[in-house]
Amino acid sequence: MSRARPIVIAGNWKMNHGPKAARAFFEALAGEDILGVAEAAGNGRLRAILYVPAVSFAAASEAAAAFSKRAEIAVAIGSQNVHWKDSGAFTAELSAPLLMEIGITHTLVGHSERRQFFGETDASVRDRTAFALDQGMDVTLCVGETRAERESGRTEAVLLAQLAGALPQSDPNARERAAKALIEGRLRIAYEPVWAIGTGLTATPAQAQEAHALIRRDLAARLGAQAAQNAVILYGGSVTPANVAELLACPDVDGGLVGGASLKAPDYAALLRAGALAAR
Ligand code: PEP
Repeated sequence: MSRARPIVIAGNWKMNHGPKAARAFFEALAGEDILGVAEAAGNGRLRAILYVPAVSFAAASEAAAAFSKRAEIAVAIGSQNVHWKDSGAFTAELSAPLLMEIGITHTLVGHSERRQFFGETDASVRDRTAFALDQGMDVTLCVGETRAERESGRTEAVLLAQLAGALPQSDPNARERAAKALIEGRLRIAYEPVWAIGTGLTATPAQAQEAHALIRRDLAARLGAQAAQNAVILYGGSVTPANVAELLACPDVDGGLVGGASLKAPDYAALLRAGALAAR
């Protein structure tokens, strides 16, 4: 039986890879073995996204378009954050209209590094997500517990609180829009345990599956059964070519959000190959 939901292999380049390195990445990717990936990407079973630093939007978009022509694999280029207003006095922020004007239609929201180091709150994550979706963007919304929260048995409470904080609660129209975006695959959730990000520690498949199933149950209660069923839920936290297959084998893990391993073309190609296999 084939999977009901597409596999998404998303990379987060964080503050790495300027325009030169972005071009070199796609040159190298074109030389990698991506047998089987084009077919899965072509029939919509597999999607590739790279969230790159803003200075690399143009170079990465051009290089991705050239790669996609050659390899027949579309790689969407995205932003690592987006503001909740369309314009104004918000130094260093980027709005959905500004991003979309240059063809950047995908964005991350609520990455733990934004929450940890830049004061991102559930409320700002909610506002960023809602505005980006209303503007027609594709959003990956990140949630995840810290090591202390896991060790004190609070993982479930933290994830539920982050989802409650980030998704619309009382406004039925906003709830309907979020549910529609999940069904259309334009909103997805990334479960990223903070203790696993950039540490080399990966959640076991059982830990990932447990958290993903919890998230899906919560989405069902909050936004309805169809939204939950269609919701693509990514796992992030030290995903590598060595551990990706066992994670993708979990029934509720629909892909990966990958930091370190997405910086190297051979590793990203290996992740895409694993995604294509899992997507069959
Ligand atoms: C991330 O940046 O979201 C991430 C999961 O990083 P890494 O894969 O390096 O742990």
